[in-house]
Amino acid sequence: MLVLRSILYLVQLWLVPICFVAAWVLTGMLVWSLWVILRNIVQRSQQLHQIPCANCRFFSDSYHLKCTIHPIEALTEHAINCGDYEDVHSQARRVS
Ligand code: SF4
Repeated sequence: MLVLRSILYLVQLWLVPICFVAAWVLTGMLVWSLWVILRNIVQRSQQLHQIPCANCRFFSDSYHLKCTIHPIEALTEHAINCGDYEDVHSQARRVS
């Protein structure tokens, strides 16, 4: 009985520091995961905002044919450096 009581005492002695460290490690992992998620969201949205198709004169705004020149690449990351991009506003200025 004395052995069991001393083992229980030792476990209780180490249990609080171990739980303290485990709780802070889990909290740190949670904060790190949230930081990584937010960073990825910002990077992804910045990348998607570089897609120029919405302001391109060849963008048809139709679900069936999004672009008359590059219908597959339109509104994707492949259109970011599209060589055929032409600003719709520059066309309007030329017409008027
Ligand atoms: S020409 Fe290029 S930039 Fe313009 S809508 Fe088509 S894919 Fe997008």
